[in-house]
Amino acid sequence: MDLSLTTPVQYIPRVGPARAKLLKKLAIETVRDLLYYIPFRYDDFSLISPIDRVQPGETVTVKGTVTAFHNAFTKSGKKLQEVKVSDETGTLEIIWFNQPFLSRVLPVGTQVRLAGSIGWFAHELVMTSPSYEVTGPGPVSESLHTGRLVPIYPETEGISSKWLRGRIAFVLEQVLSSVVDALPDFGLMPLPRAIQTVHFPQTKDQAVMARRRLAFDELFFLHLRAFEERRNWEQTKKSYPCRIDKNEVTKLINTLPFTLTDDQKTATREILTDLTRAYPMNRLLEGDVGAGKTVVAMIAMYVAHSNGLVSVLMAPTQILAEQHYTTIKGFLEPFGIQVGLVTGSQKTELDSRLRGNDKFDVLVGTHALLSRKIKFNRLGLVVIDEQQRFGVLQRSALEKITKRGKTPHLLTMTATPIPRSVARTVMGNLDLSILATIPDGRKKVKTWVVPNEKRQKAYQWITKQINENGGQTFIICPLIEESETLATVKSAKTEFDRLTSVFGGFCLGLLHGRMKVKEKNSVLEDFRRNKIQILVATPVVEVGIDIPNATIMLIEAAERFGLSQLHQLRGRVGRGELQSYCLLFTEVSEGQTLNRLKAIETTHSGPILAELDLTLRGPGELFGTRQHGLPELKVARFSDSDLISETRTAVHGVVGQDPNLSSFPLLREKLRESTITNGQQD
Ligand code: ADP
Ligand code: MG
Repeated sequence: MDLSLTTPVQYIPRVGPARAKLLKKLAIETVRDLLYYIPFRYDDFSLISPIDRVQPGETVTVKGTVTAFHNAFTKSGKKLQEVKVSDETGTLEIIWFNQPFLSRVLPVGTQVRLAGSIGWFAHELVMTSPSYEVTGPGPVSESLHTGRLVPIYPETEGISSKWLRGRIAFVLEQVLSSVVDALPDFGLMPLPRAIQTVHFPQTKDQAVMARRRLAFDELFFLHLRAFEERRNWEQTKKSYPCRIDKNEVTKLINTLPFTLTDDQKTATREILTDLTRAYPMNRLLEGDVGAGKTVVAMIAMYVAHSNGLVSVLMAPTQILAEQHYTTIKGFLEPFGIQVGLVTGSQKTELDSRLRGNDKFDVLVGTHALLSRKIKFNRLGLVVIDEQQRFGVLQRSALEKITKRGKTPHLLTMTATPIPRSVARTVMGNLDLSILATIPDGRKKVKTWVVPNEKRQKAYQWITKQINENGGQTFIICPLIEESETLATVKSAKTEFDRLTSVFGGFCLGLLHGRMKVKEKNSVLEDFRRNKIQILVATPVVEVGIDIPNATIMLIEAAERFGLSQLHQLRGRVGRGELQSYCLLFTEVSEGQTLNRLKAIETTHSGPILAELDLTLRGPGELFGTRQHGLPELKVARFSDSDLISETRTAVHGVVGQDPNLSSFPLLREKLRESTITNGQQD
């Protein structure tokens, strides 16, 4: 069968259904995915040496014939392969460990290329555990695994880099000519060459240029798609433009029991400006839990009402909806604004009220609000409060409310820390307002990085705290993998047993993601009622749980977490009157990793920590984007702000002169394709 870019990998020779399944784990499903499976580094085996010239400490490739093969045993009884390879200049000893099958692959007489480092062993120069490649008499440059820069890929069980290399080389030969370069000429390496080169570069510089070209593509299309969406929104959607009466707004603000923070003022100004436009607002309001997003949204709802418009606020849970309802009603009712609550549990009552003549100016509810075909008269503003996962309610809301007629202004609120560079690329269709600070007067959670030597002291301190103040404690077990595996659960159980004897006087509970809902709830209930003083939990512990009496958060192996994630865990305490504490246990005692952790001792802003994560933790490690439902980049890095700006400028250059892309049919086509694939991922 002829391969094309969209052929499922299963049909590539020597792949088949079983391997295809393994490849799926690496998100490789089609030939194109395989081509875009980018190495994360290269082994430099490009130095080719005659055998008599190899030097200890060198990493080299030698080419020769197997002249001896001996399966032996080490002193400890492990299997050892002792092999001799000769060329016209001499003979080199090769050693492998525990690979007896090599005697079949490399029998005496085989022509072979070997790449690895040279060391001393029993007074002789040897090459230990080299990469090998059985060859014919051809020139070295045809090799894949030796004698060159050799790509190393993220692997999974059953899929090695060596195997991937072979299949990628095969596929490159078959389909590279059908890769279309859709980009206008920006003086970059042509796309097909970049794909070829990123796998099999001649030099490191070439590899860098190839990768840059692919990253450029990726970012370019993100910006372009965002631009298209934004333009489409602005040109096709009609809003109810509002008039802003500053005095009236001030009247509301004056009734608040606090003054707005500077960030709240800025966000309010941005939002109210959006409301005046003839196309609907599409804005994201980002800020930690407790940053005061609700009041900002409420001011917008108030302005909507002054303009004769109805507002809806959707919350992810019933409890949150009820909280919002109480808050908003308290502030807005004095202004004669009717606030209503809709949750799943009182459907029928609401239905009858909505059908009757009850009139609401502001309706608060869960997303049940969306599934019901409520006919709103002059729905002017929809506010979506997504505590944790960004984009879930937003997507369904967009679908439901923006079909025809006028589109309400849309404000999405999130506690997910999204760095600006991420927002500018993957969410470039949204405007962004950030509340970077928590209002003053709130007690900050005192945070300490605790080195290993102080572990016992810390346990004593916790015991004292619980005895004296009655504060409860979370102990978060180390993060082993991003999703909760059996290993994580096992380590949590072990930790639980150990801590039970450390904290003999208290009642401990264990919580992990593999427990049944009923079990979980009963543990949480016991914790809430202080029947349990110390809750040992895995990192995936329900982020939304709210236990005001919990004052201590202890996180094990804190260096394994991203700062944003630590910050979110820290947010589980500090919710009541008592001073709260966060203890970050780590065995790391110096260097960058420690500095990174130290940042969280003094920084209490989620968005700022998210930015730090990007710069300090290095590329590709923005923790939890998947968890938050944001797409991930394959080649480009969110930390590469230069390339993010450059690609943005490039997109503006193109659309500035030709917004419909009429003279860029290839771009249009590719944009359409990428929109489709993206839609499927959701
Ligand atoms: P979130 O951003 O998590 O939705 P909320 O809007 O629920 O935060 O606000 C948290 C608490 O802070 C509320 O009790 C709110 O009344 C209070 N609050 C909001 N803004 C301020 C402020 N500027 N000064 C003091 N307290 C504030
Ligand atoms: Mg909130």
